[in-house]
Amino acid sequence: MSTAFTNPPIIPAAPPIQKETTVGNYFVSNYPPFSFWKPEFVGEVDAARQRAPKPGTPLGIYLHIPFCRKRCHFCYFKVYTDKDSAAIKGYIDAALKELAIYARQPFIGGRKPNFVYFGGGTPSYLSVDQLRHLIEGMKSLLPWNEIEEFTFECEPGTLTDHKLRAIRDLGVTRLSLGVENFDDHILEINGRAHHSKEIARAYAFAREIGFSQINIDLIAGMVEETDANWHECIRKTIEMSPDSITIYEMEIPYNTTIYQRMKAEGKLVAPVADWETKRAWVHYAFAELEKVGYTIASAYTAVKDKAKTKFLYRDKLWAGADLLSIGVASFGHIGGVHYQNHADFDPYVTQVNAGELPIFRALTPTDDERFIREFILQIKLGSVSRIYFEKKFGADPLLRFAEPIKRIQDWGFLSIDGDRISLNRDGLLQVDKLLHEFFNPEHRNIRYT
Ligand code: SF4
Repeated sequence: MSTAFTNPPIIPAAPPIQKETTVGNYFVSNYPPFSFWKPEFVGEVDAARQRAPKPGTPLGIYLHIPFCRKRCHFCYFKVYTDKDSAAIKGYIDAALKELAIYARQPFIGGRKPNFVYFGGGTPSYLSVDQLRHLIEGMKSLLPWNEIEEFTFECEPGTLTDHKLRAIRDLGVTRLSLGVENFDDHILEINGRAHHSKEIARAYAFAREIGFSQINIDLIAGMVEETDANWHECIRKTIEMSPDSITIYEMEIPYNTTIYQRMKAEGKLVAPVADWETKRAWVHYAFAELEKVGYTIASAYTAVKDKAKTKFLYRDKLWAGADLLSIGVASFGHIGGVHYQNHADFDPYVTQVNAGELPIFRALTPTDDERFIREFILQIKLGSVSRIYFEKKFGADPLLRFAEPIKRIQDWGFLSIDGDRISLNRDGLLQVDKLLHEFFNPEHRNIRYT
């Protein structure tokens, strides 16, 4: 048959849409996808530890604190609600031993960490004595005098005045409060441990004692969320006036309590708002925040003062920094290799106590995969620089991603203006769905949400 009759490729007129919230992950946090990281590649992390760092690569530290007062029904993180103080002490000592192994390795290359992130779980679940022991131990292993940002995630109900003072005195610069919602009934039926009174009290005291940056997290689409309640949440947020607000759209991954209930009841659709409604709620929040002077700094974040309010952990990680990650189930990246630690408490502690790194799986991305990774992560900021990618990866993203860029442009979400490739607000609010268009074919996820 003559090629003159070959049909051109069919470009869908719109992105594939699934309206309802069904089970699965929506949020794209890394590339290639985690399912491609394998135990047989762990030796590649060992080799990376023995190499000097690539000049100019910043170094950050992430620590996972896997303890919570209660397990939220939408939670998909590795958390424990039943560990006593001896187990917690054992965990802290294991994390310090793990850091000590890394601290002696050539990949550090004399670098001083530039940012630290304590995530979870609930870092603020730890007592003041436990936090002092942990942070002072970390400071004795690696120099902290060039740390510009120390982020600490908190659950409001765990914060006493005494603990907040101690957290500030231990050097935390960015306090991140897991508020999620302001309505006590919604907090309760979603399994949150805190109540609205605790939010107000913790926030007021944190402000009073002068933390340099306070972020609050909200979730659009918790079980029983309504338009009226969401509008009230945004009104209260604006009244509080935090430095930044991070809003996630509710997703229901497989390992959540909500999904377990859906499975038991034979339901395919989660008992939360559909994607269109959740996007409309984030759209409303961003618009209201912009009216009072906030700037939209990423698909999930609004900041009060863009010049002053940085988020180094996100920006450096998304630009290829090394992240020395410690703790159970944590994800890191050193010397060009992705890795993840054991996801269960006992194997993690046992392996570290035996003097070994507790790494469970790893992957060395190719140069092209690193290009894709940085491109998809940075476009979550709303706009990327072509020159940045040309300099770093030797190719113009307009050429490397010609097809997906054209497709997303045809769908009405993307524009090109000189050096900048940008998403409009509609594109930004569904960025995690659009990112799959940039993936290599073997990594494409056929489940769209
Ligand atoms: S507080 Fe956070 S980490 Fe802990 S159970 Fe709830 S969602 Fe999960």
